[in-house]
Amino acid sequence: MANSNSETKCPVLTTANGAPIGVQQALTAGPRGPLLMQDVALLEQMQHFNRERIPERVVHAKGSGAYGTFTVTNDVTEYSRAALFSKVGKKTEVFLRFSTVAGERGAADAERDVRGFAVKFYTEEGNWDLVGNNTPVFFVRDPYKFQNFIHTQKRHPQTNLRDQDMQWDFWSQCPESLHQVTILFSDRGIPSTYRHLNGYGSHTFSLINAEGERVWCKFHFKSKQGIRNMTDEESAAAIGGDRETHQRDLFNAIARGEFPKWRVCIQVMTQKQAETFRWNPFDLTKVWPHKEFPLIEVGEMELNRNPENYFAEVEQAAFKPSALVPGIGSSPDKMLQARLMSYADTHLHRLGVNHHQIPVNKPRCPVMNYIRDGQGTDGSYGAAANYWPNSIASAPKPDASYADPAWALGQTVVDRFDSTVDHDDFTQAGNLYRMFDDGHRDRLTRRIAGGLKQARAEIQMRQLCHFYRADADYGMRIAKHLGIDISAMVPPTGAGHKPVAASV
Ligand code: NDP
Repeated sequence: MANSNSETKCPVLTTANGAPIGVQQALTAGPRGPLLMQDVALLEQMQHFNRERIPERVVHAKGSGAYGTFTVTNDVTEYSRAALFSKVGKKTEVFLRFSTVAGERGAADAERDVRGFAVKFYTEEGNWDLVGNNTPVFFVRDPYKFQNFIHTQKRHPQTNLRDQDMQWDFWSQCPESLHQVTILFSDRGIPSTYRHLNGYGSHTFSLINAEGERVWCKFHFKSKQGIRNMTDEESAAAIGGDRETHQRDLFNAIARGEFPKWRVCIQVMTQKQAETFRWNPFDLTKVWPHKEFPLIEVGEMELNRNPENYFAEVEQAAFKPSALVPGIGSSPDKMLQARLMSYADTHLHRLGVNHHQIPVNKPRCPVMNYIRDGQGTDGSYGAAANYWPNSIASAPKPDASYADPAWALGQTVVDRFDSTVDHDDFTQAGNLYRMFDDGHRDRLTRRIAGGLKQARAEIQMRQLCHFYRADADYGMRIAKHLGIDISAMVPPTGAGHKPVAASV
């Protein structure tokens, strides 16, 4: 039989076009060479090797992924008509990719950094990607700042080093980052494993029910393993011994049958509540306090299957916030709006125009449209019509029952609104600080001072004002660790936090 090795019962080595190879040794003119051009199998191997890598992700380059199941445990059909929520007990396949943000593909897993938490739900009405983090907020609220922020987290253009001066220069000029900076340097800044962290959709999304009614929503994934973090010393020791701690832990836990689980919840806000909420509900630097917007359980997510091939399934996994399904929509959040374009665009660059046909990205439901061809197409449309409108009875047509309700935007003014004025960047960062016990406050402020002292003096002073405005003790402690006497600069009572005017 072709391509089977009758003597050893193993498959026969072949070229990429399937032709059996007799001997895998270079074809040469004489035992000492030179090589012959006609050794096409060798040429093919060398050429393919040179093209093995694709561009690494600009952010979230180092990651780990696994498949699993989302199971509905509570009826939320009053909020969303999404097929995956349609009845209690319903199961939907998922693929989750965890990542660090700033490091390159070979970076160590156990570094202090935000963790990516991107979930692809393969629903019967299309793939829904929730592309979140292990933090409920982000550093900036205006998309113009995003690329600049990432530049400060990556490497200095001259030294090629991570640069504290660059990082604190940016943060100190963007006080909206204070809330996320406080989380990053808190004891939750270095998760012990990917299993022991919470995930958040972070943005505000919309949910639309069968009656076409819209509410605003935030998504939360609470680790059922609990929260576990590394100290700075544990992180240094872990990185010294093993750069792949989190990949190893996740893969081995699943291989052992210890399947990690998350409780999936939503917070819901009506349009009426949004109009009077004391913060802009679409501001990515803000949370919705649990006391006012309690968590509503939706389901449970379990990871239970390792990928077979890291490159094919994890490196090529493409998540985009624009992958939404009927019943789940976007919101006015400026950062979300920008990401709706940006993530799809980056996949066009990294993986090509047919990235949605790669098996890990391919919807499990039929895909019926008139988008065709392009590099790497799997040709799955065969002879079907490639134009619309057409008069072919069996051809796909839109179904008005899936149309989203209109968005009432009132008397909208189109302008480039300044995202730095009339915002309260301090209260929520201060609320988080005030949740910490004395030991946590000490560790947080020492870590921050450790980095900040490497920035220029003027940056230190600018940033100290932000910490002080969030909470007087927060600012005073960091100043003390920096060896700066700010007592002359602060009001004598120093009673601390005074919220500034909030805006919606
Ligand atoms: P709550 O007391 O109701 O909630 C506090 C939240 O903070 C819990 O979700 C808790 O998560 C989480 N938390 C505890 N320690 C840390 C930490 N070191 N870093 C980050 N999160 C932590 O208060 P509020 O809802 O009023 O929120 C107060 C502050 O808590 C916010 O300003 C925000 O910084 C933070 N937070 C709020 C969230 C929200 O959606 N409201 C979500 C996550 C954080 P857990 O239950 O898993 O311990």
